[in-house]
Amino acid sequence: MSDDPAAEPVIVTARGVEKHFGDLQVLKGIDLTVRKGEVVVIVGASGSGKTTFIRCINHLERIQKGRIEVNGHLIGYRERNGQLVEDSERNIARQRCEIGMVFQLFNLFPHLTALENIIEAPIHVRKIPREEALRTGRALLARVGLAEKEDTYPTQLSGGQQQRVAIARALAMRPALMLFDEPTSALDPEMIGEVLDVMKELAREGMTMIVVSHEMGFAREVANRVIMMHGGRIIEDAPPEQFFTAPAHERTAAFLSRVI
Ligand code: ADP
Repeated sequence: MSDDPAAEPVIVTARGVEKHFGDLQVLKGIDLTVRKGEVVVIVGASGSGKTTFIRCINHLERIQKGRIEVNGHLIGYRERNGQLVEDSERNIARQRCEIGMVFQLFNLFPHLTALENIIEAPIHVRKIPREEALRTGRALLARVGLAEKEDTYPTQLSGGQQQRVAIARALAMRPALMLFDEPTSALDPEMIGEVLDVMKELAREGMTMIVVSHEMGFAREVANRVIMMHGGRIIEDAPPEQFFTAPAHERTAAFLSRVI
């Protein structure tokens, strides 16, 4: 990122996003702008809507109101006669190519090796020639420190290694944005560091990232902004120094006193 973050292009715009599950309103009007190279960490109590919100960003969840754009493309919907209607599967798949997602439970294909997991989407979705996909896949495995594991199946990898493969797999699509949904919360404590290190490196290289996480150390060290969600709303959005030392909202202070 340049010295003036406000000069960077906008990668994510969410405006007035509302989400219901039946009668339960989980998102109550989310507005968020994320610029290129920013790392935004979302924190908040369980049930506040963090996971739902980032799943809406790549249309794993439908929204009932508002709009989300990533890299200038409206996600999940298209405009018809002034109304938003859900887009075709094909267009949604194309939009998702811009967005890498890393889940809590890795979600690797169990019947594919580490390298095969990584090249699957580039070959079948992006239509990249196999040789090129293999070259890129091997480079990505090396980047997450797993060069020697290319022929290993997920069940033979530790949780931390599986998550690093999952990150490499997401990167293989050359996304403009990476979403992380509690990427370390299913890991044994000794494996958390290796995954956070890969994420820190990505951040240093300028990847735009939205990360739902309970790792306050990571947020403090790596985030450009920390966001607090409460009851389906963003109640605080501040640089980490301010967020952790002088939060504006009393609920943020109460949350921090519980988790730190
Ligand atoms: P957080 O990530 O902050 O813990 P979530 O986004 O997972 O919060 O959940 C927000 C609320 O939405 C919770 O009350 C949860 O039970 C509810 N919820 C999440 N997913 C679903 C679903 N698929 N169907 C019904 N309710 C859901």
